[in-house]
Amino acid sequence: MILYSTKHASPDVSLEEAVFRGLPPDNGLYMPYEIPTLPQSFFDTIGDLSISEIAFEVAKALLGNDVPESDLKGIIERSINFEAPLVGIEPNKYVLELFHGPSMAFKDFGARFMAALMSYFLQKSHQDIHILVATSGDTGGAVAQGFYNTPDIKVTILYPTGKVSDIQEKQLTTLGGNVTALEVDGTFDDCQSLVKQAFLDQELSSKYNLASANSINISRLIPQSFYYFNAYAQLKKAGVDKPVVFCVPSGNFGNLSAGLIAQRMGLPVKMFVAATNINNIVPNYLASGVYEPRPSQETISNAMDVGNPSNFIRMQLLAGDAYEEVVKHIAGDFSNDDDTRVTMKEVYDKTGYIMCPHTAVAYRGLSSYMTELGEDVTGVLLSTAHYAKFLDVVEGTLGTTVPIPERLSALLSKEKVAIPMSTKFSDFKNYLLQL
Ligand SMILES: *Cc1c(COP(=O)(O)O)cnc(C)c1O
Repeated sequence: MILYSTKHASPDVSLEEAVFRGLPPDNGLYMPYEIPTLPQSFFDTIGDLSISEIAFEVAKALLGNDVPESDLKGIIERSINFEAPLVGIEPNKYVLELFHGPSMAFKDFGARFMAALMSYFLQKSHQDIHILVATSGDTGGAVAQGFYNTPDIKVTILYPTGKVSDIQEKQLTTLGGNVTALEVDGTFDDCQSLVKQAFLDQELSSKYNLASANSINISRLIPQSFYYFNAYAQLKKAGVDKPVVFCVPSGNFGNLSAGLIAQRMGLPVKMFVAATNINNIVPNYLASGVYEPRPSQETISNAMDVGNPSNFIRMQLLAGDAYEEVVKHIAGDFSNDDDTRVTMKEVYDKTGYIMCPHTAVAYRGLSSYMTELGEDVTGVLLSTAHYAKFLDVVEGTLGTTVPIPERLSALLSKEKVAIPMSTKFSDFKNYLLQL
């Protein structure tokens, strides 16, 4: 895989370089020149394959020249080793549950694959690295779990104080070992900006091998394409053959970009729906053709509180670049917090299914789109986190207590360890330099 920078002012790189650099020096994003199409025979038999078999076939097509097959198999087996079931909740509507990994959010797919791929490359080069990652909640937990106890890798996680749920905070701050949490007195955008500045800082990059784990890293994007194929496989197995619409609850638009990669590789998708909360920069762009980032606003679907989505350019390029092309692939919808609560409650009352706020945003986006379209299609909404990660909101909205998986309840009794940090880059830099 050869990758270019979307700003076209940095040299092309190999997969290995893109994975460890994260961002090109010109501050663009790495994109592969070529995205191969999978053969029809793969789609003919996909219903018989497991998620890890599908992941292997997709990964082989993308990375076959970078990682030998046997190593790639090992990487997949270590990282894509949990299910992503498709659950029918209403006629023509399915939830793709992406929260069955260790941190109980879809980010486990990206974080675990990235950790396994990095550790494969590091074994060959005998280096150590320092991962910096900004999180609005779920990235931190997935990255902490994915990299925990990985030799030669140190992880620093920046999260906005008071803006992540109790369980999310415990996931970031209770592992210890090679994982350190910084509690930043600001927003997610502040955290993301500190990380971006660190990568562009000469002094820091001469002292450390810094690497990114945010969704800008191409190695997080690739494995997120696997579960779109797997969802299709499950539909096929169930004998469903209507056109498929995927609704993706979105913040930085890594998840949706991965869906577009799957489509480019030949997956039949009728439409993607980009569903956001009131941070509706992309739905606005889809409606008007004008892309206007602005500071993020807090919502109850806080993993999507993003005012300047970092994968926007990738999404745009993957959907065909020109606005007229993009809107052929992606429709937009957004919900305010009241809409989201109403949706959570209505779906629970009607079906008994409990959704996290992000999933509810997707449910509403899918329903609106399907109603508007008025055609007979199969709708798949991506459930990006287990509801128990957002316990206060869920119980407050449903007006009842809900069961908590053992894996999450065990965390609540553990003690938080985090280092307070301002939003000033000089403070962050000094902290890193004295490590
Ligand atoms: C990260 C996250 C999202 C947004 O995903 P993007 O790839 O950033 O668009 C949505 N829901 C949950 C629960 C998340 O953790």
